[in-house]
Amino acid sequence: MASARPQLYTTDAAQPPRLCAKRCRACGYTFFPPHAYSCESCGAAAGQIEPRLLAGSGVVQASATVHVHHDPNTPTPFTVASISLDDGPTIRALMTCPTDAKLSLGDRVRAVLVSTDSDADGNARTELRFEKTPKVEAT
Ligand SMILES: [Zn+2]
Repeated sequence: MASARPQLYTTDAAQPPRLCAKRCRACGYTFFPPHAYSCESCGAAAGQIEPRLLAGSGVVQASATVHVHHDPNTPTPFTVASISLDDGPTIRALMTCPTDAKLSLGDRVRAVLVSTDSDADGNARTELRFEKTPKVEAT
């Protein structure tokens, strides 16, 4: 299973995907997506930055449905959400649902890998998306 952005998340089929973030050893600031520069919070040198895996779970803070995209090859509509991860940072990510009609602020969401297109060699590619976490029914 090839990942479209292998440096950004794990793709072990036996585990839920986790996000490959970075953490500053000097101040504890955690950020995603990762970058190779110094800490944007305290200015510590790049050598103070270490990898940190984040659980792909969090809460929706905002969402928007995109109906028109400048690239005509990009299917629309699609939904982008601002998600406060349980492990710290707030990120923006694509949702599996095409519109945010059934998405509410405060909804629990989780990361999933979805098959998208194929690469030039015909290998299926996966990308990271978020979906609403199914509610656990009380028994
Ligand atoms: Zn720092």
